[in-house]
Amino acid sequence: MIRRRVSVLGSTGSVGSSTLDLMDQAEAGGAAAFEVEALTGGSNIARLAEQARRWKPRVAVTADAARLDELRDALAGTDVAAAAGEAAVVEAASRPVDWVMASIVGAAGLKSAWAAADTGATLALANKESLVCCGATLIERVNRAGGRLIPVDSEHSAIFQVFPAEAPERVAKLVLTASGGPFRQTPRAQMVGITPEQAVAHPNWSMGAKISVDSATMANKGLEMIEAAYLFAMPADRIDVVVHPESIIHSLVEYVDGSTLAQMGPPDMRTPIACALAWPDRIAWPAPKLDLPELGRLTFEAPDLARFPALDLARQALKAGGAAPAVFNAANEMAAFAFLDRKLAFLNIAAVVAETLERAMKAGMVFGSGDACSAALSVDAEARRIAGSIIAGLANAA
Ligand code: NAD
Ligand code: MG
Repeated sequence: MIRRRVSVLGSTGSVGSSTLDLMDQAEAGGAAAFEVEALTGGSNIARLAEQARRWKPRVAVTADAARLDELRDALAGTDVAAAAGEAAVVEAASRPVDWVMASIVGAAGLKSAWAAADTGATLALANKESLVCCGATLIERVNRAGGRLIPVDSEHSAIFQVFPAEAPERVAKLVLTASGGPFRQTPRAQMVGITPEQAVAHPNWSMGAKISVDSATMANKGLEMIEAAYLFAMPADRIDVVVHPESIIHSLVEYVDGSTLAQMGPPDMRTPIACALAWPDRIAWPAPKLDLPELGRLTFEAPDLARFPALDLARQALKAGGAAPAVFNAANEMAAFAFLDRKLAFLNIAAVVAETLERAMKAGMVFGSGDACSAALSVDAEARRIAGSIIAGLANAA
């Protein structure tokens, strides 16, 4: 039986809700028992309160400081303490637990992931942006505190499961699979008028809005390349990307002797979350299973870098190192949200990232002093300022 005291940061989102659903099912089957210390959400107070009533955490936190009274009202009659604002989210993340799920979206998840890393808990990391911004220092911080970082992103979970951590020299390269997103076969001429509704309609995965846009531009695979480089200490030129539209093979590790190990499963985030929750054990739950005869065949193709330039921009940022990955992340996040707000054309998302990276590198943007989290946050703020002015310029020109 798996027993864990857990906190879920970003519990109201897609990964956060999947985490609680998995916990529910594992408990119902008698495979696990959980106590919840903290749940944090954003502006969906109703969902947060519903989760808090089910799990009875010590504290439920909304990141929106203006919604404290609303949350208190929604929790009336329970023993759950209500808190609000960014500092309260970080405080929740700092509480001692066995396991913490970091599933806030974007650089907004950085401070809380950084705080959780220092508690000695197992850090189940869905928030790839914090790893992209802080790099290996986030992993070092977890290790120094006596904890362990376990990736939740399905590709990295796959690699984690087949990677020989005791002998990394046995690995020739990592191969990340990509679904190709909703526009895998869309001719460039037709990509001009892509709407947010079209972009968030992912063929295989049901996810939050920002990662769905990232998936459509393939910036997500770019972020994941950087994430993989830090997690598995692998240089950019030993990380390949292959498009695999069925999303059944979640990634592969090629060994030096020519053998390649892959991890497979249905496209359901609860499986990599389950892996992170029980590792090195395995937790039984009514997981969806593969039906290979039904699938029939798996297909692969090379990514089209001309239609999806974000992938190559991420590789350049990774090779440049220093502040470049954090700049890539900030510019991409600004551009993705501007696109969702209908203030930027789909094809201009990558253009904003390219231009921001160029300007930041010309200006010699580097990490300042202080810890990696503060340094990354200053770079993030500066890169957002640059990206914001580029986005405004494009809007004025349109
Ligand atoms: P989502 O948008 O569905 O949920 C995000 C969560 O973060 C919500 O609880 C929201 O309230 C909270 N949040 C948003 N802004 C916040 C802020 N400023 N401060 C504090 N909390 C805030 O996103 P998601 O799809 O669940 O993705 C979460 C993370 O997991 C992302 O980093 C994403 O890249 C990663 N991820 C997601 C999936 C997936 O299948 N959804 C797969 C792999 C990795
Ligand atoms: Mg992924």
